[in-house]
Amino acid sequence: MGESLGLYLHIPFCAGKCLYCDFLSFPAPEETRSLYVRRLSEEIRACGARGGMRERIVDTVFIGGGTPSLLLQEETEALLEAVRASFQVAADAEITMEANPGSLGRAAAGRLREAGVTRLSLGLQSACDRELARLGRIHTCRAFLESFDGAREAGFDNLNVDLMSGLPGQTAESFQKTLALAARLGPEHISAYSLIIEEGTPFYETYGAMKADLERYGEWEDIPLRRRAAYQGTLPLPGETADREMYHMTREFLMGQGYSRYEISNYAKNGRECRHNIRYWTGGDYLGLGLGAASLVDGTRFTVTRSLEEYLGQTREDFLLGRQYRGTHTLSAREKMEEFMFLGLRLTRGVEAVCFSRRFGKPLASVYKDACARLMGEGLLAAAGEGDGRRYYLTERGLDVSNCALAEFLLDEWNTGLQGKRESL
Ligand code: SF4
Repeated sequence: MGESLGLYLHIPFCAGKCLYCDFLSFPAPEETRSLYVRRLSEEIRACGARGGMRERIVDTVFIGGGTPSLLLQEETEALLEAVRASFQVAADAEITMEANPGSLGRAAAGRLREAGVTRLSLGLQSACDRELARLGRIHTCRAFLESFDGAREAGFDNLNVDLMSGLPGQTAESFQKTLALAARLGPEHISAYSLIIEEGTPFYETYGAMKADLERYGEWEDIPLRRRAAYQGTLPLPGETADREMYHMTREFLMGQGYSRYEISNYAKNGRECRHNIRYWTGGDYLGLGLGAASLVDGTRFTVTRSLEEYLGQTREDFLLGRQYRGTHTLSAREKMEEFMFLGLRLTRGVEAVCFSRRFGKPLASVYKDACARLMGEGLLAAAGEGDGRRYYLTERGLDVSNCALAEFLLDEWNTGLQGKRESL
């Protein structure tokens, strides 16, 4: 029996494009979507037929995008049917689908459950309609509530809600309202991320320079007047202090509401952590299917083409031969160790020394002697337990500055291939 496997299915379609979004997603007509689903089903079947795949137990499936809930019912069914026909799917597999409010009603949620989806991830982002409109989101808070209630009525007992802080014009008070609404609804899982201004997005045009100034000067009021004049008419982004305040509010408020923080930006009720994403953070194998999807299987990373035209032009033989991949990289032992630390320390429970030594045949404490000593000296890393039970984890302060702390374990940075959008990274 081989190692267990997670499957990621990418659905790149959205009703419109949010102004901050740099995910591989775009609007497309129904015929294109339907052709894409046919190709993706072929890819699933071809990948399942590859050597060794049938021996693995698939215990998580994540359908992300894009907006997978835009698919027709029969399309979702066809994809899950292809998965079940081609892989050994565990009876208790976690099968997550991302859904956007505005594209999911009560009846649709019921059909997804019938198709075998066990978990829905809903993007609320903000409870304030003005903030949603500024992000270019297509839904209102009311539409979100309808989708959330519809999912509950359909019997979903495992829901994630995505939230965002650091939005243009957002204040600590408005963010508190968003947190309070999310906690009142009581989803089993909440992901809370800060807005990142990504290059190539409309937000980058509007806010790229402002963000750089905020990083340089700290607060809006500290940016020199002549520079601020250039942003006239643009709502300011929260400064560093407000941003930090929202970050701390998230942790304190959600933990006070019965959620555990199990990863830097992810909170869950007891036992409801996202199993698929834990796989990414613990170095488990996953196979990415569909446009732009990344995989890590047996220490090799490979990524499907990002060109829709190319993808739609693939034949069954192409998929069997892996011709859809652009870029394959076999991780060196050093890279695997770095990744083990870099990703594992995102989890609040940290990494176990015994797992490291079993995997790499060397003790963690000697490979990362200097990095551990430095971070422990600065109060960013701590260790608990002795011998085989020794565990290293980032302290609260370490989690606050995780990017800097984690960089200590990297020689070179590379794209770790996490996918599944907000909930995943
Ligand atoms: S943020 Fe989500 S819903 Fe908005 S365009 Fe990107 S993938 Fe689509």
